[in-house]
Amino acid sequence: MAFALPVIQKNTLVMKFGGTSVGTPAAMKQVVQIVAAERPQWKNLVVVTSALSGVTDLLLKMASGDTDLLAGSAQTIRARHTAIANELIADLEKRQTALDAMEAIVEQILNLCWAISVLGESTPRIMDTIASAGERMCIPLLSAALESAGIPAQPVEATRLIRTDDHFTDAHPDMEKTHELTRQVLQPLLTQGIVPVVTGFLAANEKGNITTLGRGGSDYSAALIGAALPADDVWIYTDVDGVMTADPRLVPDATTVPVCSYREIAELAYYGAKVLHPKTIRPVIEAGIGLRVCNTFNYAHPGTRLVADLDAQPGIIKAITTIRNLQLITLEGRGMLGVPGVAAKTFDAVAKTGASVPLITQASSEQSICFAVPASSSKKVIQTLTKAFQSEIQSRDIDRIWATDEVGIVTVVGEGMKATPGVAGRVCSVLGDHQVNVIAIAQGSSEVSISLVVDGTQVQEALKVLHQLIQ
Ligand code: ADP
Ligand code: ASP
Ligand code: MG
Repeated sequence: MAFALPVIQKNTLVMKFGGTSVGTPAAMKQVVQIVAAERPQWKNLVVVTSALSGVTDLLLKMASGDTDLLAGSAQTIRARHTAIANELIADLEKRQTALDAMEAIVEQILNLCWAISVLGESTPRIMDTIASAGERMCIPLLSAALESAGIPAQPVEATRLIRTDDHFTDAHPDMEKTHELTRQVLQPLLTQGIVPVVTGFLAANEKGNITTLGRGGSDYSAALIGAALPADDVWIYTDVDGVMTADPRLVPDATTVPVCSYREIAELAYYGAKVLHPKTIRPVIEAGIGLRVCNTFNYAHPGTRLVADLDAQPGIIKAITTIRNLQLITLEGRGMLGVPGVAAKTFDAVAKTGASVPLITQASSEQSICFAVPASSSKKVIQTLTKAFQSEIQSRDIDRIWATDEVGIVTVVGEGMKATPGVAGRVCSVLGDHQVNVIAIAQGSSEVSISLVVDGTQVQEALKVLHQLIQ
């Protein structure tokens, strides 16, 4: 493949590669070629990487307490990393060093998994140490593969760069400390022309314990590091041609959205478009740096540019996304009318169960509150609410707390909707024409999205017919 680009040196670029981009020898080879092609264009280059595709899931399975899985899973992990090392690290000594680093981590994980099975339980802190091992095993490989291609590189574990609170499995970064640490560690490497190869996903708390930023969090890591340096641009390399009009796995004729506003991508990411972790946007906006989503396997494609503001946009609906496997929970009762604090008490109780609530609606009569939760949490949510509102149920102020059958949320997104009256009506009537029943509807306050709740069996049909509205 020809990667010849005219050389225009810009300052700092953070390139983040997702799991599929580093998942096989061929994919990682592509990554090396992309870094080699970009290097002359930039004064400083930082690479952030995920674990090899599927490795984080496998590690979490190993931590389930079922020791029968351990030997086979460890073998799979070894084989996948070894295949890449054999193909991409020419220097035998360097290859062995990368494989030794991997083996030390595999041994550590096996020990922790045995301990979990003996104790019969785990803790979020141990789960983070296990979940983050994939990224830690990937960086020695990618770094050595870059060196083999003549690019000076060095693996860097993000425990040294990103400082978080103690909220294991979904930790919150301390921005100030992260900025300080990132610059302290990365600047000396960049000054020497070395490409730091940094683990995505993981960080450390004040005590140095490994924390993680939530599943899919490597995008967020890249944004945090980009904001700290600061970089001019953060490019998220994945396995599709940027942000698309719908998930191409669900809608085969989905097309790339060339330019997307931060508000649009925030809504898409929040409502299920896995292409970018929802937390990625904020550090990038705050630091005023550029963001692009592009395809490792189609390097020449410009992908999607994310921008702060969009002028008048052609077309109204730009993209559609879905979240499946939800249930709607409703609290209803005539006694709720005007009673202050019912909503606060409801969501306080739901928050204690740890369930995420992607959508809330309240009828103006105030006689019911309705919200969506993952179907896997609905039983627990109902139990918790029933307990929290025991006295209101006894006094008949609340008549019923109940869950629907499985539903999904279909969200249409586009800045153009703000200036166009009647979009919600059009969306609902198109769905009606195709016999898709809308159970609930909510519009984001930024007016760039409308979310519709439909029966679980009709999500795919709703997605298909609404996708046809995109010009
Ligand atoms: P990575 O490992 O590179 O971070 P992810 O699997 O997290 O990749 O995200 C990329 C995937 O997101 C794509 O393969 C695609 O199936 C899915 N996806 C969902 N919605 C969209 C969308 N609107 N545009 C592009 N991709 C999407
Ligand atoms: N490897 C992590 C995960 O699978 C982080 C990421 O890929 O962004 O969730
Ligand atoms: Mg991802």
